[in-house]
Amino acid sequence: MPSTPHANKMKKQDVLRPLPAGAMKFGGFLGGKLELCVKQRLEKIRWKHLTEPFFGRNEDDGRWRCEFWGKILRSAVYAWRATGSAALRKALDETVRDIVRAADKSGCISSYPAAKQLQDWDVWGRKYVAVGLADYCLEVRNDPKAAEALRRHVLALAAQVKASGKPLGDIGWHEGLAANSILGAVVQTARLTGDPEALAFAKAIYASGCSKRGDVYDAALAGVPPRHIGNGKAYEMTACFDGALELYRETGDPRCLEAARRYWKSVRDTEIFVNGMGGGRDDWGEYWCDGRYSQLRADGWRNRGQGETCVAATWVKFSMQLLSVTGEAEIADELERTLYNGIAGAMTPDGTWWAHLNPAGPLAGSAWRQKAFDQIPGYGEDCCVAQGPMGLALAPYVAVMAHDAGATVLLYEPNRCRVPLGGGATCELSIAGDYAREGKVAVEVRSAPAKKFELRLRIPAWSGAKTVAKLNGKAVKGVKAGYLCLDRDWKKGDRVELEFDMAMHVIEAFDGSRRFALQRGPLVLAQDSRLGAVDAPFRPVGGQAVKAPKGIFFAYRFDDGTTVCDFASAGNLYDMRNRLCLWMPMLPANPV
Ligand SMILES: [Zn+2]
Repeated sequence: MPSTPHANKMKKQDVLRPLPAGAMKFGGFLGGKLELCVKQRLEKIRWKHLTEPFFGRNEDDGRWRCEFWGKILRSAVYAWRATGSAALRKALDETVRDIVRAADKSGCISSYPAAKQLQDWDVWGRKYVAVGLADYCLEVRNDPKAAEALRRHVLALAAQVKASGKPLGDIGWHEGLAANSILGAVVQTARLTGDPEALAFAKAIYASGCSKRGDVYDAALAGVPPRHIGNGKAYEMTACFDGALELYRETGDPRCLEAARRYWKSVRDTEIFVNGMGGGRDDWGEYWCDGRYSQLRADGWRNRGQGETCVAATWVKFSMQLLSVTGEAEIADELERTLYNGIAGAMTPDGTWWAHLNPAGPLAGSAWRQKAFDQIPGYGEDCCVAQGPMGLALAPYVAVMAHDAGATVLLYEPNRCRVPLGGGATCELSIAGDYAREGKVAVEVRSAPAKKFELRLRIPAWSGAKTVAKLNGKAVKGVKAGYLCLDRDWKKGDRVELEFDMAMHVIEAFDGSRRFALQRGPLVLAQDSRLGAVDAPFRPVGGQAVKAPKGIFFAYRFDDGTTVCDFASAGNLYDMRNRLCLWMPMLPANPV
């Protein structure tokens, strides 16, 4: 039951596989945002503007115009897969046909003039051309012309690097991480075309360790914290581990998987903020920075940024890959955190644009939201605006997946889907409820094959054993964090009702700073100046959900009258006067 015609060639089959394109109608909070993103941004992309640098080969100022075509294409590929937008599909087919024509005699598709190739962001840009072509062939249509263009493009790079006498890690930015992060796309090229030279190139990249400061995989296996691996550049590094997972699928090398798994855990435990974002240390929030602690420091952000959207989008992509390979439920818990808070909060409410930093300003203090700037003055793009949509479009990709024995439900947005069960059989499921605001959801079997299959339902760690589950009205015992596995002869109309524990979780600052964050269900909450004072101390006791004002998804009022809202909605006027606060000050306890 491969998800693509190529998956059956992989040495290691994924534990969880995405549904075929068009097999799900995805709604709810995240589905609504994705629809806006498609209509207001992705269907309006000026693709010719993005391919132009490759025809002109005139990017001689050391910039990175070359990254936008592939980054935006990947976002559009996943968004098309999720929504079936005909306009998007037409644009994808056209622009892929177009970029193939920009190849030179060797097959290379670069925006840099020959004399400047293998410098600055050239290999990085060529990586994204490869990423775009590979994702198009794997997820949209296995077009022989695009696959052949991809193969020639990748082999031209391999030959050019060899002729230069320098390793790939000596070329370009971030001490090897940027150029070597092409690994995943090179493996996919080998999978698509069966070319042994492409696979040899991928193995050589992996064996190089990807950074001039030492092997990143060895470092992860030795437990080195991400901020001390390579130069710490967060999403380039994460992409190198994503590439190792692609190589694992191809070769079955257990070191690839173990390094990726340890890296994932270490990023989760030491870097990811409570809102699912990550990255700091520079003005743009782009380096691993001991984020678990630095998010609490209002002084640490001075003239600095926290939480680049690209870091969150790449974290979502990498988590999706590791979830597919291993099937581990705790990975979906983190996907949920980043999708509902970090990613959802990084898009402007009208879907036209994205924030680079989410939010701008300190996480422990008064912050605001601002739209990403024109990153290369006059070109009109920003990396986060290009990659944010990919993160969002991966929500339906991981919402319901297929496993060997049945279907796995990982996210609870309202949706209706058809799940392949092997041997040509399918089941249809629907999920109903007002998830994220409410904890009650119903999963219904709309059609079932004659044979048994297993329905696996993710029980989030924040709800765990407090979750109440009923199968056709009868209580199910022993529910706990992880998966609830129900293996039976399913009939049309069978229903599993889940009631998640929506109690308020007060997360106290772990650095003694007397601040706290709030989480209710998957939503992290924040103060917003439209609802009251921001960065103002209060005591988070009692209270209840209240009707949210226009433009805000969820609001909650505590006993003392303080009202907070979901982090994704906080500050979403994108006006510096509309302030928000994520880590709020705790009012000292009353003296007894
Ligand atoms: Zn970015």
